[in-house]
Order: sequence, then C-alpha cells, then structure tokens
Amino acid sequence: MNFELTEQQKLVRRSVRKFAEEVLAPVAPTFDREAKYNGDIVKELSKVNLFGIQLPEKYGGADLDSLSYAITIEEISRICASTGLMLSVHNSVGAYPIYNWGTEEQKEKYLPDIATGKKISGFSWTEPNAGSDAQGIECIMVQEGNEFVLNGSKIFVTNGSIGSVILIGTRYKTNDGQKGIATIILEKDMEGYEIGQPEDKMGVRGNITTSLYFHNIRVPKENILGSLDDGFRIAMQTLDVGRIGIAAQALGIAQAAYEHSVEYSKGRIQFKRPISQFQGISFKLAEMSTKIDAARLLIYRAAYMKDNKKRFSKESAMCKYFASKVARQVTQEAIQIHGGYGYMKDLPLERYHRDACATTIYEGTNEIMKLIIAQQILRGNL
Ligand SMILES: Cc1cc2nc3c(=O)[nH]c(=O)nc-3n(C[C@H](O)[C@H](O)[C@H](O)COP(=O)(O)OP(=O)(O)OC[C@H]3O[C@@H](n4cnc5c(N)ncnc54)[C@H](O)[C@@H]3O)c2cc1C
Repeated sequence: MNFELTEQQKLVRRSVRKFAEEVLAPVAPTFDREAKYNGDIVKELSKVNLFGIQLPEKYGGADLDSLSYAITIEEISRICASTGLMLSVHNSVGAYPIYNWGTEEQKEKYLPDIATGKKISGFSWTEPNAGSDAQGIECIMVQEGNEFVLNGSKIFVTNGSIGSVILIGTRYKTNDGQKGIATIILEKDMEGYEIGQPEDKMGVRGNITTSLYFHNIRVPKENILGSLDDGFRIAMQTLDVGRIGIAAQALGIAQAAYEHSVEYSKGRIQFKRPISQFQGISFKLAEMSTKIDAARLLIYRAAYMKDNKKRFSKESAMCKYFASKVARQVTQEAIQIHGGYGYMKDLPLERYHRDACATTIYEGTNEIMKLIIAQQILRGNL
C-alpha cells in the first residue's frame, strides 16, 4: 500500500491551491454575501482546465485520475465551497454519465463544450415529492412518434441557473405501453424549459440553486442516455461517483477551518498565554486533525477503487458520510476556538460551517449513506 501521491498528483495540488488562493480567495466572501456567481470565474476556471478534469484529451479534457480530481475539489473548496460544488457537480454527475453511457454522437456533441466550461452541466433528480426516495419521481415523458413529450418539475438544482446541459430523471411511457425510468439529456434552450427563481440558502450561497419546469418539451430519442429502461441504474452509479467529489468538498471546508484554528490559537493570548497551550484547545486541534486525516484516507481510497475498476458504492457512501460529518463537527469546533470572533461574519468560520451543513444533505443524506452502507454489508460486502 502506497500513501505517497504521485508527482503529477502533487503538482495538481500545488497548482490548484495556487489558483484558488490567488483567484478565488478574493471573491469567495462576496459570492457568499451577495449569493451571486460571477461569470468571470468560469473563464478563469476554464483557463486552468478545471471543467473536464477526467475527460479524455480527445474531448478537450485534462484526462486526470480520480484522486487528482478529489484533490482538485478539496483544494478549490478549501477556499470557496460554492465553486467546489459547481465543479464537483459539473465534472462528476454532469459530465461523467455522458462520457460513460453516452453514444459517440452524444459525446462529440456535448463533451468538448463541457470540457471548456462553455456549457456548464448538472444532474437533476430531486422533485417536490421525491428526494431520498429517488424512485418516486413524477416527471413524465410520453412517446409521440419518434420523440417524447416531457412534463414536470425539478427542485434544488445545483448549477440550475448557469447550467446548459442538465441530466434529468423521468418516468416514460412508450407507444407500445412500456413504462420505466430514464435518464435524459436536456438543454437549456429547448422550448418549454423554464428556470425558477434562485433559492435563498443557508450556505454554498455562491452556487445558485433553482427549480426547473418542463412544459411539453419535445425530447428526441437521441437525448436518452444509455438504454431507455436503464435510467435508474445510471443515476445510482452516477451518484457513487459524485459522492467522492462532495466528500472532497467537505474535506476542503474542514481543512480550511482547521488551518484557521491552528493559526488563531497560536496567536490569541488569554491568561497571558496563547490559547493553544490550554489542553482544552490543543485537544480540539488533535481531534480535528485526526478526523480530517481519516476522512481524507476514506476519500482517496474510494477514488483509488474507482480508478482500479473495483466496486466502490460502499466506499463512496462511507467517505461522503464520514467527510461531511467531520466537516460539520470541525467547522463548529473552529467557531468555538475563535470565540466571539468566530461567530462574526468578518471571519470566514461561520461561512465554513454554513457551507459544511449542505454536504450532509445533497447527493444523498447521511441517513441514506448509512442505508447504502448497511445494504452492502448485509449483502455480504463486509
Ligand atoms: C444546496 C442543495 C443543492 C442540491 N442540488 C441538487 C442537484 O443538483 N440535483 C438533485 O437532484 N438534487 C439536489 N439537491 C437535493 C438533495 O439531493 C435532496 O435534498 C436530498 O436527497 C434529500 O431529499 P429531500 O430534501 O427531499 O429530503 P427527504 O428525502 O424528504 O428527507 C427528509 C429527512 O428524512 C430522512 N430520510 C428519508 N428517507 C429515509 C430513510 N429511508 N431512512 C432514514 N431516514 C430517511 C432524510 O435523511 C432526511 O433527514 C440539493 C439539495 C441542496 C440542499
């Protein structure tokens, strides 16, 4: 077992960290405060090739491995979790399924623009009556000749306002009475595609979340991903991949809160001593560091398993469950270590905590992660 990063993975960490500190750090507080996403950042992210991290060079991607991808999301989220979310969703649950299940025509049509960020992608499954119960979706497309006519709505769509290519889950009904769940590719400029108002969120406010409404959208057969009746399996396997990114996002947030806490505790003097010299504080740092390290190892293992074509549903659920929980705990302790200053908006600690809270919810709540892990265990995957 080798715990050393390769030279390329080290380079990815160094260069993404430099980019995040130089380009994202000045704007991250504004994204949060104004709940707006600055389109100029998309251009900057495109310049450093962060939109097609794992796509092959043939489609304009950087062709990196999953560990490099996790490191990238971790480093971006250490500075700006909203951007980390945008990139994680775009690269994993947006681009990955098209690459993995798409026809060559679909790949050639969508991936080059996705890889440059000209088109931002997303994945939209949640509906008003279907969250954790993903099979309960009510969007429906009914076949009419060679097309399907889609109606329904989605909620809580990450990249909802800026996304041009969104994968959605829908029920379908064919001419010959066949029914099931399909994953399809929708484009923003299709007639009948409506974007709702931005949600006013607690955290990850620099990523705009919206609803989507579909009014009699005519969906050509060419926009079905994989086979018509394979939509649910595609979605579940896509989320296995996505969770590595969300776990890495949580890790980056926790790492930022921890680094701030170490620095602050060494400089803050009370009772004539730095507060880091009080065991009550230094033990908090020890716990933070241990939990962050454990989360990182779980994430890197899931990434390794994916790249080595091993089953990784359980490992991906584990890393998402653990890293997101750690992010919530660590960011809360970081506020405590900073005392009253930690509670004020002048410092980023409260933002980190608000951002961390989302990571235990999206791409499957932590209760659902435990359900997946338990199912795997009881099926014999001990
Ligand atoms: C900021 C943000 C961005 C999001 N982005 C996207 C996106 O891009 N695409 C998308 O499709 N969705 C997105 N979501 C939706 C997210 O995936 C859902 O919110 C999540 O899956 C939970 O669904 P729900 O909100 O309907 O909660 P519910 O499913 O109603 O769950 C409510 C509570 O009940 C618990 N619960 C439910 N079922 C069980 C069970 N069987 N056992 C134990 N506990 C259970 C849950 O864990 C939770 O605590 C986003 C959400 C947020 C907050």
